Amino acid sequence: MAVGHVLEGDAVRRQDPELADVLLAERERQSSTLQLIAAENFMSPAVLAALASPSANKYAEGYPGNRYHGGCEVVDLAERLAVERATALFGAEHANVQAHSGSSAVLAAYAALLRPGDTVLALGLHYGGHLTHGSPANFSGRWFDFVGYGVDAESGLVDHDQVRALARNHRPKAIVCGSIAYPRHLDHAFFREVADEVGAYLIADAAHPIGLVAGGVAPSPVPYADIVCATTHKVLRGPRGGMILCGAELAERVDRAVFPFTQGGAQMNAVAAKAVAFGEAATPAFAAYAHRVVANARTLAAALAAEGLIVVTGGTDTHLVVADPAPLGVDGRTARGRLAAAGIVLDCCALPHDDDRGLRLGTAAVTTQGMGVREMKFVAGLLASVLRGGTEPARAREDVRELAAAFPPYPR
Ligand SMILES: *Cc1c(COP(=O)(O)O)cnc(C)c1O
Repeated sequence: MAVGHVLEGDAVRRQDPELADVLLAERERQSSTLQLIAAENFMSPAVLAALASPSANKYAEGYPGNRYHGGCEVVDLAERLAVERATALFGAEHANVQAHSGSSAVLAAYAALLRPGDTVLALGLHYGGHLTHGSPANFSGRWFDFVGYGVDAESGLVDHDQVRALARNHRPKAIVCGSIAYPRHLDHAFFREVADEVGAYLIADAAHPIGLVAGGVAPSPVPYADIVCATTHKVLRGPRGGMILCGAELAERVDRAVFPFTQGGAQMNAVAAKAVAFGEAATPAFAAYAHRVVANARTLAAALAAEGLIVVTGGTDTHLVVADPAPLGVDGRTARGRLAAAGIVLDCCALPHDDDRGLRLGTAAVTTQGMGVREMKFVAGLLASVLRGGTEPARAREDVRELAAAFPPYPR
């Protein structure tokens, strides 16, 4: 079936063996190592097939029923399905499913609500804010005046008093809540209250937790935020891409901010693949998956703590674990390299008040493979042993290969 066609890349192999070898090598890498990068997942064969479908050929500027190109009547059906499924899944009045990525979704949200030079309050980059939350290397930091809030040094939790004080002082036009490395649920009602007090818009950048929201294991920002930005490829397990949710009154501004303001034609194969992923995410099987993702992350966090790592916030509510490996004698950057040699693939990240000293792990991908709490305990033990120098990375690599082989992400 389509799985074989897509995964084996028969057409590519016949025509371009050189590139086919690269594709197969990446497939082999993904299935013989452990993907603990918190932003990654394994999309289903159906989502992959939609991505590789000829819908990719279609040019479709505009929105269903109102396109700048002819011949859009069929892809319009795919986009309508994606929008219907997204609004039903998240209880939102409006969904834009055209954003090419999470960053594009955030750009469009700013474009819908702000003017260059406006003040925006967001989680500081050293505390887990995303590039689009005011990095000087990103459009956000260049075009807007960002003020950063932080987390409490002791608890690792968002400092609500500071958020309120900064909002009162700076009177931002928008407040952003969302992070690349926050293992706990955010208090959306709190952010709404502060935004209302100072007359700011509230933008929730739920790129990471949106899949957990779909699975019913994380609180939804939809009732609280003016605009919710998200990715479709993290825990949500869809194609690489972005999505924006909002109320009816902002729908037109959001749609115009995506097209024609920040993007041209939609990628209709990605839109179709998003529809497939939203369909999957609405099933009881996905809710069960989301519960297992969190259970696995909690087990991983506890096992890492038992091995001596310092787990930020003392645990997790989500798929994400942030840990300081310093007690084992390494920093995050060194640890990432040593673990990569063992086939344990993860990110280093900023710890509160410190760059690159921490490790960020996520359980979305390994849970899709079917791994459970037993495997999480095994992985934590192996990881700590490699970092302590008790197990050579090359030796650990064999254990990882054996474990991964027992949980293939795709059928052989
Ligand atoms: C992943 C992420 C993004 C960006 O997603 P891309 O698709 O890589 O552009 C934006 N914001 C947050 C909070 C994220 O975690």
